[in-house]
Amino acid sequence: MTSPFRIGTGYDVHAFGPGEHVVIGGVTIPHTSGLVAHSDGDVLIHALCDALLGALALGDIGRHFPPGEARWAGVDSRELLRAVVAMLHARGWRVGNVDAVVICERPKLLPHVDTMRQRLATDMAVDPDGVGIKATTSEKLGFTGRSEGIAAQAVALVVRREGQG
Ligand code: MG
Repeated sequence: MTSPFRIGTGYDVHAFGPGEHVVIGGVTIPHTSGLVAHSDGDVLIHALCDALLGALALGDIGRHFPPGEARWAGVDSRELLRAVVAMLHARGWRVGNVDAVVICERPKLLPHVDTMRQRLATDMAVDPDGVGIKATTSEKLGFTGRSEGIAAQAVALVVRREGQG
């Protein structure tokens, strides 16, 4: 019998560019710059999508939602997350829990973390306590420390659904 559990990991970065807000974890946060991206630049959701896809060895979001395709221009990344979760469900799996960290000096994310957790939990059909989100700085070191961009990393556990496989 194959394992009833699978794990995956994901990582993403977007550079700061012109703009007045960033979108992280499905929450729009006012900021002095935006993020350069073909989509809304939601690094946290992109890392989560890669973790979920990785758990089933399904590649990465660039493969499923090619950034060169016009239909993904400016897309709300929550749509991508819901599509990824639908792929898992269709294959007989569900999201167990996820944990992620977002790395940037600014903006301050802590005030928004609970809203992110609720929104992403809804998109992934899990309880909010199955969604861990942390925010950290990199102590002014490296590209995140120089406020050139935002990075995120995530891990995900997926669980075989009852009666499957
Ligand atoms: Mg990305």
